[in-house]
Amino acid sequence: MHYEHELTVALAAVEKAAVLCRQVQDTLITDETVIKKDKSPVTVADLGSQAVICLELMQHFSTDAVVAEEDVDTLRDNPELVRRVHALVSAQNPDTTHARMLDAIACNNSGIDFTRRYWTVDPIDGTKGFLRGEQYAIALALVVQGQVVLGVLGCPNYAFERARPEGPGSLFYAVTGQGAFARALGEGTQQAISTDSISDCSRATFCESVESAHASHDEHAEISRALGITAPPFRIDSQAKYAAVARGDASIYLRLPRSHSYREKIWDHAAGVCITGQAGGRVTDFSGNALDFTCGERLKNNVGIVATNAIIHDQVLDAIKLRAHT
Ligand code: AMP
Ligand code: MG
Repeated sequence: MHYEHELTVALAAVEKAAVLCRQVQDTLITDETVIKKDKSPVTVADLGSQAVICLELMQHFSTDAVVAEEDVDTLRDNPELVRRVHALVSAQNPDTTHARMLDAIACNNSGIDFTRRYWTVDPIDGTKGFLRGEQYAIALALVVQGQVVLGVLGCPNYAFERARPEGPGSLFYAVTGQGAFARALGEGTQQAISTDSISDCSRATFCESVESAHASHDEHAEISRALGITAPPFRIDSQAKYAAVARGDASIYLRLPRSHSYREKIWDHAAGVCITGQAGGRVTDFSGNALDFTCGERLKNNVGIVATNAIIHDQVLDAIKLRAHT
């Protein structure tokens, strides 16, 4: 099977990062940090998560390019932060030296040719959700010649079993041409997942960001009205929205930036695009174009994101087009 080794490594990396993030969420995020709007727990977890993922990539795919969200400069001249991140990383990867950890966080990212092969990492997607104790995702994807060929999303607070919200979170993953799967984080049994089969938009649920700064809730509401959707929007942070569509918990994910000059970052979408696509869904921008992962850290050629169960994709694009002309 194609990308078997890559998938094994990626799943192990995201599993480790999920344990680290969960530990921080359980121990460092307190009522006090939330009240004080203290962002240091998320900084520590972000850097720690990036370190454990990039350590795995460095060990197994040392020549691959890696584009990750966090900048190692955050740690420069801050030995206390280095110490805190190292303590978390060592719990997952004993014997990692400070130097190796810093190398991993810095990644193999100079002079990347985005038209060839690269990994992209969002160590904690949805940091606002992470701080609120709600949804967040650890996202890892492999892009080869512009196609996302592998995607993994660790969603520690997205219940694997709908009926057991207090049960383990979920790991979603897909490889191109091989379907999409989910399993409980920390446990072994995988299950194929697929999008729903709703063809009547009025029965659909759409998801969007919790943060109104990240997407235009007003414009989404207009589009959903035009589609006859009556269910309230399913608001969740992070790429868990792609997982929701991939698993049939929602039929549509809408993301129109508030500012039309905003261009999305590749690590906020790559893993989700692969998983939703392999689950039977379709992902385009608001004009119906495929997302272009060949032009750098931003999706420069795309505005707005639409992910659906594929069946209703054209209806959603038509509603978007009509809205643009009114
Ligand atoms: P979400 O959890 O769906 O709200 O998305 C979280 C992601 O939104 C973060 O990883 C950021 O990279 C991204 N983001 C930050 N600012 C903006 C913005 N103005 N518009 C769209 N996305 C943004
Ligand atoms: Mg993100």
